[in-house]
Amino acid sequence: MAIEFSAAVSRIPVYPAAAAYALPEDVALLASNESPEPPIPAVVAAVQAILTGVNRYPDPTNSKLRGALSDRYGVPASRIAIGNGSCDILLAAGEALLEPGAEVVYAWPSFSVYPHLAAATGATAIQVPLNDRHEHDLDAMAAEITAATRLVVVCNPNNPTSTAIPLADVAAFLERVPPRVCVMLDEAYCEYNTLEDPDASLDLLAKHPNLVLLRTFSKVYGLCGLRVGYALCGSDAFVTAVNQVRQPFFCNAAAQAAAVEALKHGDAVAQRVERAVVARLELEDGLDALGITPAESQANFAWFDLPVPEGEEPTPFESSIVRTLGERGVQVRSGTALGRPGALRVSYGTAAQNERFLRELRDLLQ
Ligand SMILES: *Cc1c(COP(=O)(O)O)cnc(C)c1O
Repeated sequence: MAIEFSAAVSRIPVYPAAAAYALPEDVALLASNESPEPPIPAVVAAVQAILTGVNRYPDPTNSKLRGALSDRYGVPASRIAIGNGSCDILLAAGEALLEPGAEVVYAWPSFSVYPHLAAATGATAIQVPLNDRHEHDLDAMAAEITAATRLVVVCNPNNPTSTAIPLADVAAFLERVPPRVCVMLDEAYCEYNTLEDPDASLDLLAKHPNLVLLRTFSKVYGLCGLRVGYALCGSDAFVTAVNQVRQPFFCNAAAQAAAVEALKHGDAVAQRVERAVVARLELEDGLDALGITPAESQANFAWFDLPVPEGEEPTPFESSIVRTLGERGVQVRSGTALGRPGALRVSYGTAAQNERFLRELRDLLQ
């Protein structure tokens, strides 16, 4: 007889891993919005220095990291949650807030992890379509809030569409959400947004105890392999709740040390953002030459509809492009898997990788 699993296991989608892990070295990995740059050398050194002490458990209170984040952002340490990647905090929030009968509201297409929130807890997911500029429709989201709503997630800039909504719109939205409903603003890409100061959303915390700003060291700091993220919260209660539902040692010692060191290198981070913005312009120019207009990106990746030839269907056309690009050593994400058949999501790589992607795509579209 086979093992009998919980109903949640049949509901939770299996994460579609990028196919590149078993491929040769020279593959251009443009499928997971990673930084193409290795970690900052001082961060690598900080990780190496901590390794001789890993016979001890990591600090379960993450006190150094929370202290460093508190200094950096001016948010009391009691209102800062740490996680094994920001996804860990996201899933813990689902567990702490949701249950059968409760509702979670988020946009769609948006981050592929959000469907786990309802699936894992038995809550109901309310997916609100993006507008035709691939942006959150905050009016439509506000209209979906009911007495059953416990959590609203707003991804800004949005993954997989790369678009950002103005912070003023988010601020106006928050005024419409009852204070008993937790609003999580997922800002995994906020550092790449050239339209807004990434620190501007912090001002909203003082006014909205129900607000959580979710951030990560995975993207611009280039530390996704270590798994560390954080949440800046409007209240202590959220931090206590997400810590209650998790194992005590959710953030390993190397990740904590790396994050503390990374926060000392604001200049290096700013330079990474500059290079990503150069890549954005290069990729947009190259796509434009192919007659493709991507969504207006404020992130480290491009999102666009492929020019599907007349008489062909979007999904098979897109999968054959993704597959052939993969065979030629360029990994990108299929839009079908992310909620929009016929679309592609392409992370910015090095200049050479971006050129390689454009060259192969041009070849396939001709
Ligand atoms: C990459 C990403 C994250 C970060 O996940 P980690 O668990 O911190 O690696 C969070 N939200 C979105 C929308 C992302 O794209």
